[in-house]
Amino acid sequence: MPNANPFKTAQAQLDEAAARLGLDEATHELLRWPQLEVKVTLPVEMDDGKIKIFHGYRVQYNGARGPTKGGLRWHSGQGGMDTVRALAAWMTWKTAVVDIPLGGGKGGITCNPKELSGREKQRLARAYMRAVAKILAVTKDVPAPDVYTTPQIMAWMMDEYETLVGEHHPGVITGKPIPLGGSEGRGDATARGGVIILREAAKVLGMDLNGKTMAIQGFGNAGQFAALLGQEILGLKLVAVSDSCGAVYNPRGLDARKMVDYKLRNGCVGDFPDAEGISNADLLELDVTVLFPSALENAITGENASRIKCRISCELANGPTTLDADEILHQNNVFVLPDFLANAGGVTVSYFEQVQNTYNYYWSLDMVHERLDEKMTRAFRGVYEMSRREQVNMRQAAYLVAVARVAEACKLRGWV
Ligand code: NAD
Repeated sequence: MPNANPFKTAQAQLDEAAARLGLDEATHELLRWPQLEVKVTLPVEMDDGKIKIFHGYRVQYNGARGPTKGGLRWHSGQGGMDTVRALAAWMTWKTAVVDIPLGGGKGGITCNPKELSGREKQRLARAYMRAVAKILAVTKDVPAPDVYTTPQIMAWMMDEYETLVGEHHPGVITGKPIPLGGSEGRGDATARGGVIILREAAKVLGMDLNGKTMAIQGFGNAGQFAALLGQEILGLKLVAVSDSCGAVYNPRGLDARKMVDYKLRNGCVGDFPDAEGISNADLLELDVTVLFPSALENAITGENASRIKCRISCELANGPTTLDADEILHQNNVFVLPDFLANAGGVTVSYFEQVQNTYNYYWSLDMVHERLDEKMTRAFRGVYEMSRREQVNMRQAAYLVAVARVAEACKLRGWV
């Protein structure tokens, strides 16, 4: 299912959890759908003076546990509303599994940011904010960066929002640059959280990861920091990296710092010296200890799952594994650290950012790291214990923990 509809995947994953939890019909049906979705059409002036029309989305999936929260993706193939719905559903389970008092949301614009100048990006960011501002607020719904969106884009959007309401509201968006109220530690938080989850997984599996190999699919925010922190914190040896232009492999090891510098300088990893070019598909099938899927949805499917040889798949991307692939990985003893657990570090530090913005007093990097570690470790243990108790895999266990929490909040509110 390389083109599996991510929202159908998300609903099917929920259905399974709902059946195991014995959810009543109304609660189950409520959790299958977003509470609010908005589609906006954005006319934006390009640098040549022509007006181009962009399509944008914002979905508030479930706000029973708190204001909805979730990133904004700028991508040409982002699949429209159904992809945003799926990502918003996963955000709902993510905030619940790490037990932060937020719901789940997501947004996006269909565009190719690589074709836009800085000024065009700024006009697009501001146009999007003008269109969706009325459904956003620290107390309603708070966006953040995702694929191809950056702290600079968050800064423009925050400025547009504050201009519209005529007050300072830095907490209306997270992932901002630090001088504008961003949090220390937000930049690498997604990967750091994943590495903490991986550290805990290695403990329960009785594995020492020092000197073992890792391959990284997707070399943006999540993937680059996974390379650096996997090497620094766990002693993993980076052997392969891919991005949208290609993949490279060196079984003797690639220096993570040099790889990141090369990517930042050249835009693509493909011609990195001292490494063999391989296909993006081959990277996923390498015989490595840890694979970090860190690009987009549907990377591991029923077609390639039986050839995946890693021992642990630490899913930093959202939805990288289709339903049928999940089953095959489980049968083949691949220990999958599911996306909304493994990549929850980003939203956790975004939440810390919101907290700091609200009381207008900022934490040290050490404090952010300590609190992130505590949240992620606790989340891992809760999910692992559930998987042992219910004899289910880690994804199913994460769903049981998260869906039960959201269902409980819906019931306490008297919605169902
Ligand atoms: P990014 O835009 O910084 O990087 C995306 C990377 O993926 C780029 O290097 C791109 O070249 C690469 N890519 C795209 N298609 C590819 C393909 N077919 N094969 C290999 N590489 C490919 O995005 P990001 O923020 O790192 O997000 C990556 C994933 O992590 C997404 O699924 C996102 O939803 C998820 N995620 C990100 C955050 C965050 O805080 N940034 C938090 C949670 C989850």
